[in-house]
Amino acid sequence: MNADAPLETPTLHDQHGRWPQAESVADFRRNLADVHARIATACLRVGRDPTHVRLLPVSKTKDEASVRLSYAAGCRLLGENKPQEAYQKWEAMADLTDLQWSVIGHLQTNKAKLVARFATEFQALDSLRVAEALDRRLQAEGRALDVFVQVNTSGEASKYGLPPDEVATFLKALPAFTALRVRGFMTLALFSAEAERVRQCFVLLRELRDRLSQDIPGEISLDELSMGMSGDYEIAIEEGATIVRVGQAIFGARSTPDAHYWPSTVEHGPRC
Ligand SMILES: *Cc1c(COP(=O)(O)O)cnc(C)c1O
Repeated sequence: MNADAPLETPTLHDQHGRWPQAESVADFRRNLADVHARIATACLRVGRDPTHVRLLPVSKTKDEASVRLSYAAGCRLLGENKPQEAYQKWEAMADLTDLQWSVIGHLQTNKAKLVARFATEFQALDSLRVAEALDRRLQAEGRALDVFVQVNTSGEASKYGLPPDEVATFLKALPAFTALRVRGFMTLALFSAEAERVRQCFVLLRELRDRLSQDIPGEISLDELSMGMSGDYEIAIEEGATIVRVGQAIFGARSTPDAHYWPSTVEHGPRC
């Protein structure tokens, strides 16, 4: 990074709850093109190759008609926060045989069976109990799953994810679960209009990854950093995100309050 020109990319959180609804394939195509263009521009600012950033469209709360439009616009892997909702969509759209699902929200052990059956990726691993339950169910299904360890980089007690200082010990236990392929870390940044504080969450995740990469079991890869959503993905990319999870900027604002997904009391101001 050029020290003479500090990055001052703002968040897009002022758009939160205001993103227009995508109601046609053309709407989805336009929104996807816009997000891809912003990804490319953010990469350019820091000299990264845009092909090293994967866009994961997030379809949570959106109905089947909306998901089918996104599919027609080219989406083949969609992120869902709730395992049950994801499973229902997978079943309802089984005719779209090349549509895959990434579960990006908290998992309880009693839902591990669902995820083991249909998901391609699970991004919110933060306990050995869940790792054990998932591994057992995956072995039974004869499947493997790409997983990301979720790290709490914002320090908010209400957020899921491991505290950064517990991650090293956690990683050492994971090779025992042979159906889990550890790909990297996932985080949710502080939800704040103060871009610098948001950026610090992403920096923390990257630095943790760089540090822990020196000394991890050979079965584990930490190549991927899943960080950034509609309001902050450009900042996340500047700090090394390889996956950005973008919902509202592609699908439109949600009518369900975010508190439903992040059991939090955070000072986020008006949400949806
Ligand atoms: C909903 C969600 C996103 C996407 O949020 P948007 O504001 O819709 O872009 C990203 N990550 C997780 C874990 C989510 O639950």
